[in-house]
This record gives sequence, C-alpha cells and structure tokens, in this order.
Amino acid sequence: MAPPSGESPLGNRLDPHLARYAKRTHGMTASEIRSLFAVASRPEVVSLAGGMPNIAALSMETVSSTVANMLATRGQVALQYGSGNGDQRLREQICEMVGLQGIAPHPDDVIVTVGSQMALDLITRIFCDPGDVIIAEAPSYVGALGVFRAYQVDVEHVAMDEHGLNPEALRETLKTLAAQGKTPKFVYTIPTFHNPAGLSQPQDRRMEILQICQSAGVLIIEDDPYGLLGFDGHIPQAIRSHDSDGVIYLGSFSKTFAAGIRVGWAVAPHGVREKLTLAAESAVLCPPAFSQLTISTYLDTQPWMDQIKIFREVYRERRDATLEALTQYMPEGTTWTHPTGGFYVWVTLPEGMDGTAMLPRAVTARVAYVPGTAFYINGDGRQSIRLSYSFPEPDRIREGVRRLGGVINEELKLMHTFGTLGAARPSVSSQGSTPGPDVV
Ligand code: PMP
Repeated sequence: MAPPSGESPLGNRLDPHLARYAKRTHGMTASEIRSLFAVASRPEVVSLAGGMPNIAALSMETVSSTVANMLATRGQVALQYGSGNGDQRLREQICEMVGLQGIAPHPDDVIVTVGSQMALDLITRIFCDPGDVIIAEAPSYVGALGVFRAYQVDVEHVAMDEHGLNPEALRETLKTLAAQGKTPKFVYTIPTFHNPAGLSQPQDRRMEILQICQSAGVLIIEDDPYGLLGFDGHIPQAIRSHDSDGVIYLGSFSKTFAAGIRVGWAVAPHGVREKLTLAAESAVLCPPAFSQLTISTYLDTQPWMDQIKIFREVYRERRDATLEALTQYMPEGTTWTHPTGGFYVWVTLPEGMDGTAMLPRAVTARVAYVPGTAFYINGDGRQSIRLSYSFPEPDRIREGVRRLGGVINEELKLMHTFGTLGAARPSVSSQGSTPGPDVV
C-alpha cells in the first residue's frame, strides 16, 4: 500500500483527505461486487452477480400487518433504545431457531447484531491486532475478507475440496504456521451451502475440522446464514452443536425473512459474549429495536417455517434452472458445483481462461457474474466465477447462462487464435461501449 506521500497528484485531487487516513483505511477498497452493481442492475443485463434474497416471495401484506401489530402492542419499546446484546424475547426465539441445527444455547449466549456482517466485524475487532493471522477457506465470503482487510489481518487461505474445507490442508497450514511461531486467532468457515462455492460439509467432515481446531486450540467462527435453506428440507447440524466453548456461531434473518431488516446474531462462549456486547455498544449502542421487535412479532404470530419452505422452493427452482442451463450451454472443460441449498454455483472455466479478464466481454453480452478473484485475499481464483441464482426468474437465468456460454466459447476461440495472454487479445465490444475499469 503506497504511503500517502507517494500518492499521485491525481489521487490527492480526487480525495484531498488522503494523507489523513489511518493506515487501515488504505486497505479498504471497493469490492468487485460493489463496482459491478451499477452495471448489473441495468434492466438489459441478466445479473448472476449479487446474492440478493428473493424478497418477492415474501407477502408484503404479512409484513405490513406484522409491523402494525408490533407497533400497536410494543410500539413504546420498538421506538426506544434497547440493550446492547438485543431484545430478550428475540434472543429466546433465536435459541428455538438454532435448536433446529442442534444448538442449545442460553438466551444470554446470544448477541443480536445488525446482520451477521456486524458480528464478523465485532469478532475481528475483539480478537485481531494488525498483523495477526486468521485462517479462511478458499474461496471465502467476500464480505468477511473485507472485514479482515480492514483490520489489517493476515489471511491464510486453506483449500477446499468437494466436501468443503479440506482437513489435510488445514493440518498442513496449522503446522506451517506453528513452525513460524504463529498461532491463528481463528478459523473462519461456512460449512453449510457455502458462499461462493455452493458446497456443504458432511457431518464427519465437520467433526474432523472441529477436532483439528480443538487439538490446536484454535477458535472456529462458523458463519451460517443459509443453514435453513436446504432444498430437500434437511437441516445440517452446526459445528457449534458439538462444542459450545470452541465455536462462535453466526446466523441471520436476511435469508429466512428479509435482508433489509438487518438483524443477525452471534452465539458465543460466555467471556466472548461480554466483549462482543461491549464492542457492539461502542459501535451502535444497541441493535435496532424496531427491526428486532418486528421479527419477534413475526416469529410469534406467523407460520415462519412455511415461509422458509416457500424460500427453499423458490431457490430450488432457480438452482435447477441454473444447472440445466449450464449443462446445455457450457463448453467442454467447464465444471461447476451442485449446490444442495443456498444461492450460489461456483464455475471453473476451461484451462487457461481468466474470469476477471472476461467480465467486460460478458457485460457487453448482457450477463454479469462475480469473478473468482473477489473471493481470495491474494488474487487467486482467476479461472473461476460465482453465479448467484437467487434473484432472477428461471427463464432469465437460462438466458443469462446461454449468453455466458456464448462469451466463454468466444473466449476459447480467441485463446486458440491469440494464445493465453489476455493483453494480446482485442476487446470484444459489439454493443455500446466496453465498461471501463471503474465498472469492473
Ligand atoms: N456471511 C455470509 C456467508 C453471507 O453470504 C452474508 C451475506 N451475503 C453475510 C454473512 C452477511 O449477511 P447479513 O449481514 O445480511 O446477515
């Protein structure tokens, strides 16, 4: 990262405050997903980029009557400050929900946060000094990588295989770090319906990962916003269900109710939850009472499990459309994961292809995805892309994948003609202008 004095005059003109930022601020850069949103939201583009929950599947009448009911019965509480760790009744209800995943916490072990994203931020804040090491599977959730970067944490990636985080690779990494005198502060993992890989760890794999971390004395951060969204209705048991001291479990209402309500939670061991509450108070004083009581009323008065079943069906239909279209339109040498829940398919392009370099050409062909590099801390992942099927209608998904297949085929032809060096290839600009680097 260039020191402020090394900034170009252009950089200083764009932001006259550049020299004043804290060192950690220089590590905060817009994610590839963010810059994509502007392009991907154009109506002519089929966006398989952002992982947007399908809110159309939620009845607005139900939400509005829930809010009215909540205001009529608990309005005075909903419009007031609340406690830093969240509403007592909601924490009890969260305990009932996580019971589905085999977790049996006391309500005091639950801290309500502004989405699970805030829990990721608080956890990193209370555990990590600049230069500390954490382990994250590769690829990993882009929002978590953003947090780790912001706190100047060194991320050691551990490879995944078709069952998620690879235990052998984890052992190796722990051994290598130990030889360097480094102890990772935690292992960050998404065992269920992984973002971006679309994979789930089988139970024996979860146990193996847990045992490795227990014997190395390393805390696990289990991030689980998609756990109830299994397409066959099966709910995998959380790693936290086997160890309440060595695992912090993160959950969210973003995908089971509504992302805009911004409520998630952490289930944490005793000491940790005290620190998390203090950190939460310094960040936001308390999570929003209005949102919390809306969800609490919703859970008390509505058949929320039926709504989750509706969401599962919506996403299963879209997953099917995606996989069918991939089979139909992808050229030989392209492979992809077969998610059994969640929002994402991870596509590996034919040998020598580069998903980041291809993106402008894909957007020109009116389809957007997120390049694999967004999900690695170190620029790896060029041969992969993430497709999110959660939001578009199935027919749009098929059309998007068809367009993508065309772009990949075109790339393959160019590669054949010009070799693998992207720079040697002309950019494809058939309709309108090719998006500039600010867009992609
Ligand atoms: N973790 C993962 C793996 C996610 O995919 C997301 C959202 N895309 C989050 C955390 C954050 O979700 P929220 O803050 O909406 O609960």
